[in-house]
Amino acid sequence: MQSCAFDDQGQLMRASSALRQCDYVCLECGQVVRLRKGAQRRPHFFHLQPNQACRQSGKGAVHLSVQHAVLEQLPAGEAEMEHRFESIGRIADIAWVPQKIVFEIQCAPITAAEVMERNRDYASLGYDVVWILHADRYNKKRMTSAEEVLSTRAHYFTNIDEEGKGSIFDQYAVTQSGRRSFRFPPFAVDVAKPFIMSARINAVLPSFQKRYNAWTHGFAGDYVDVLHQGDQRLDSWLAKLEDSRLTLWGKIHYFWSTWVVRPYQIILRHILEKCCR
Ligand SMILES: [Zn+2]
Repeated sequence: MQSCAFDDQGQLMRASSALRQCDYVCLECGQVVRLRKGAQRRPHFFHLQPNQACRQSGKGAVHLSVQHAVLEQLPAGEAEMEHRFESIGRIADIAWVPQKIVFEIQCAPITAAEVMERNRDYASLGYDVVWILHADRYNKKRMTSAEEVLSTRAHYFTNIDEEGKGSIFDQYAVTQSGRRSFRFPPFAVDVAKPFIMSARINAVLPSFQKRYNAWTHGFAGDYVDVLHQGDQRLDSWLAKLEDSRLTLWGKIHYFWSTWVVRPYQIILRHILEKCCR
């Protein structure tokens, strides 16, 4: 489902002003879409014949809800949903043209290669892509390959549901072999307030350095902003991280001495005692 389509004149039509029972054309695959709306659901277009290959067709109600939530936060008239970039053949979920920022909302699975291709395509037009990954699928214990490549690219998470309840948040995790072993708390991010990351790199602690030095933009409320503002909410978490590392090291040390060193010493002593008898 999507919120924009072409009418029979090839003009862009929004679901909010479209008519029921009329045929419209999907922006991406060119197939027929129709309007659906109800008391519980925001107006949207759906494909008359489901088309698995069309990305617009694959979008669910939650995706649309996040799209609207982002758009509503941005300055009126500056951002557009399903913005077409003809020269690269892409349709951005949200394009904030004056800031040259594209928001890509991801609720469904995606490959690492596709993430990098999209970032590259938009970068060729001077746009920065900010990924918003839905917590129903992402931000789990095991990282997806897309999340691994995104660890050095701008991304946040969201838990906004079909009714629009929830937030967009930053949540950093320390990872070990593709698993999140330690999580920082989620901090709500204001997508309407971007800042240039390089201007604040002095605010970045070693823990976040690698993650942030490849990002072009950060946003108000994220970890870099919190550190830059001198906000101490992260301090206790950084201390906890140090503790957990010590505990982990303690565990490794215990395992090593109990199951490797001690048996080896016992066997060695046994052999020596036998030989010397
Ligand atoms: Zn389509």
